[in-house]
Amino acid sequence: MNNMNDTNNVNNPKNITEEMKAKHRRNKIILKIVAILLLLGALAFIVTAIVSWATEGFLKNFWCLMVGLPMVGVGGMFAMMGFRKEIGSYMVNESAPLVNQYAKNVAPGITDMTQAVKQGWTGAVCPNCGSPVGSDQNFCNKCGASLTKQCPKCGNTVSQDSNFCDKCGTQL
Ligand SMILES: [Zn+2]
Ligand SMILES: [Zn+2]
Repeated sequence: MNNMNDTNNVNNPKNITEEMKAKHRRNKIILKIVAILLLLGALAFIVTAIVSWATEGFLKNFWCLMVGLPMVGVGGMFAMMGFRKEIGSYMVNESAPLVNQYAKNVAPGITDMTQAVKQGWTGAVCPNCGSPVGSDQNFCNKCGASLTKQCPKCGNTVSQDSNFCDKCGTQL
């Protein structure tokens, strides 16, 4: 009986995930501490190098830079791993206004498209300039090109990309 209870406990998936989560948290904390120590150490080396550069000449303490700079790289890597969640949410917060800015200034075409989709754009574009056009538009509001043609049989006005007249069924 006791034996069975033990096996149950070991194989309980909830226990395992809890344990993994705790381990993961511990690893994250260790990563953060190592990253901070490395970056602080690197900073100390670089400051030493710069200070001695000014007082004793560049080559004298060049090795401090040689040690400090790779430490920045390694520390940065650890920081990226340890602070991934924090950096991720920071990037999202920072880049959201950037994307809006991009849409406004760099890619007005995309904003036009978004606007058109909001107003029920069906995917039709002006055959002349490629701007999105609504199904009820007779002329492109960007370049003024005609978006309609006349059925040769009944004279009905149909959109430029129609294959058949919707009044008499003539192939266009
Ligand atoms: Zn057009
Ligand atoms: Zn027709």
